[in-house]
Amino acid sequence: MLVNPLEYLRAGRADGWAVGGFNVYNLESARAVVAAATNLRAPVMVQTSEGAVKHAGFGNIASIVRRLADEASVPVALHMDHGKSIEVAREAVGAGYTSVMIDTSRLPLAENIAATREIVEYAHDSDVQVEAEIGKLAGIEDLGEVPAEATFTVPEEAVRFVAETGVDSLTITIGTSHGAFKFKGEPRLDFDRLAAIAKLIDNPIVLHGASAVREEDVAFAERYGARLPKATGIPEEFIKRAISLGVAKINTDSDLRLAALGRMRQVLTERPDIFNLYQLMGEVEGAVRETVEARIRLFGSEGKAV
Ligand SMILES: [Zn+2]
Repeated sequence: MLVNPLEYLRAGRADGWAVGGFNVYNLESARAVVAAATNLRAPVMVQTSEGAVKHAGFGNIASIVRRLADEASVPVALHMDHGKSIEVAREAVGAGYTSVMIDTSRLPLAENIAATREIVEYAHDSDVQVEAEIGKLAGIEDLGEVPAEATFTVPEEAVRFVAETGVDSLTITIGTSHGAFKFKGEPRLDFDRLAAIAKLIDNPIVLHGASAVREEDVAFAERYGARLPKATGIPEEFIKRAISLGVAKINTDSDLRLAALGRMRQVLTERPDIFNLYQLMGEVEGAVRETVEARIRLFGSEGKAV
């Protein structure tokens, strides 16, 4: 069923597990996420970036996910990832999204607060959960932003932000970054900062840029022609530690891309006779579903659908 995900985010925060937020852009990716959640009885957030919405069309992708959600036996939220303006967030609410992220974190704090508060009031009127970001994430998002140095979330500012905006869940920055190239040297996250923030606010905390980018998955894709030198991600033990400290939603996009690309390259290489594209897309869908299942197990949300 299609749901507002807030009660699951709160349950995760209270009980030490996290809801997976998985990025989709077409029928196969959306169906893979919903199937994985159904197989593992997990609540899940199916999310679209602005780039994905541009690719698929707002109404098209919303219709696909809403239909899959309606027919699913587990709670599925449709979430707008990184809505960069009040207009996009409003459009998402209008298209039937049950959750939106308003990301005006690039603005000075007072303006970020004002924009977020406006969306919170608008979205809550339609029973839509709101996520917002404070601090700035490094890395390139799919809209082609210039790589920026991360600015970590200041705990006291997080307290002010949630108090003045009424936001439901909060994205913080502690060293993760978007994309498949997260660290130049040893992976490092600021867990002390996370613990300090979690002590001060009881909102579900959200981690972006959290894909594992596992060495074996990179090696598999490269065996079939991909070129991903120096790709690195967040080790699984970091994810577990972050959840134990208050993170209740974790986004995954790069790992799904890696799984899809690896399988696509393998099938095209090993089965040169393939001619039905839905056979190829079916293989890709299977690879994405397996990856989503592994992430759900890691996040501890297996069996939490009620
Ligand atoms: Zn993000």
